[in-house]
Amino acid sequence: MSVYRAEYIWIDGTTPTQKLRSKTKIVPTGEKPPIWGFDGSSTQQATGDRSDCVLQPVFTCPDPIRGGDDLLVLCEVMLVTGQPHVSNMRRADADMALRFASFDTWFGIEQEYTLFRGSRPLGFPDSGFPAPQGGYYCGVGADEVFGREVVEAHLDACLKAGLKISGINAEVMPGQWEFQVGPLGAPEVADQLWLARWLLYRVGEPFGISATLYPKPVRGDWNGAGAHTNFSTNEMRRDYDACIAAAEALGTRHDLHIANYGFGIEERLTGLHETCSYKEFRYGVSDRGASVRIPWQVAKDRQGYIEDRRPNANADPYVTTRLILETVCGAARSDRTSGAKRPVPRAAKRTARRDKVAS
Ligand code: ADP
Ligand code: MN
Ligand code: MN
Ligand code: MN
Repeated sequence: MSVYRAEYIWIDGTTPTQKLRSKTKIVPTGEKPPIWGFDGSSTQQATGDRSDCVLQPVFTCPDPIRGGDDLLVLCEVMLVTGQPHVSNMRRADADMALRFASFDTWFGIEQEYTLFRGSRPLGFPDSGFPAPQGGYYCGVGADEVFGREVVEAHLDACLKAGLKISGINAEVMPGQWEFQVGPLGAPEVADQLWLARWLLYRVGEPFGISATLYPKPVRGDWNGAGAHTNFSTNEMRRDYDACIAAAEALGTRHDLHIANYGFGIEERLTGLHETCSYKEFRYGVSDRGASVRIPWQVAKDRQGYIEDRRPNANADPYVTTRLILETVCGAARSDRTSGAKRPVPRAAKRTARRDKVAS
């Protein structure tokens, strides 16, 4: 009997930041990957006496590592009763996306990450520090770029899997990189981002290099790692006022978003290194020191999208996209139904570009 290998991938219950897990099922050719189970007592998802959790396949793509007919199978974690497990953040995101389906919201997420060998980021000597930041962002050459072989292998894998990657770049700190997923709707953008994260870890294995999503991998004068979340509704894609209204809406629930944008966000959003302090909310055109940036092209075209720069690299995209949907589409819908005029926007501030350009 011919068979294929299905790699079941799920998100565990580790706190404060959930982790990816996976295991392999051999499935007869021609059959779809069925519901499966795992021992939740080993993943912080159950106690030993009631250890069974259920894996419900939700997104499947070709397995670019194994090739052939093999598949990657992203799953939601369910209880044996059929209810979503408390660690299952996808279900609420999918529900929110359905509630605001008429907005046709697109998300493009910029996933920053740092490559480590052992306990040091690539490009950091065993003791001391490399030359200060400045030449590494989008750099070229063995003195500026570290780990490109992993990054290229990851990009290849994502493309072979059919994931919608829109680009990659070397980041401001040595050993730090970025890939972008999208634009896609929710929860698809988050499904694909979680799979791309899994591929990143997996691709690094034979190189002996591990990728991390720590928001501030090196203290001091080194950039942190974020997951800037660009988004647009159908209205924003044709009307600049809707872009401003979205930025204003985000300002009304700043603390809630910060509390859910990844563990350790206070360490990263210091107000330095192209961030706005987590204690403050600001938006502005071209402003990489703001919480929310309106790209200059969007201001010029009077339509497009905006960038929420607050999410950490280790944020859960099911959570960030759910909150953005609720805050932005919720505000727009209540404006529409109440017939109220939009809040008068503060003038979008234009600020001078500071030091290095990063992204
Ligand atoms: P930055 O200049 O901040 O580095 P990037 O090029 O890294 O920007 O990422 C921009 C992201 O915005 C990409 O993922 C892209 O797909 C996404 N994007 C572009 N247009 C839209 C749009 N209309 N709605 C949502 N996302 C968008
Ligand atoms: Mn970046
Ligand atoms: Mn960005
Ligand atoms: Mn970017």
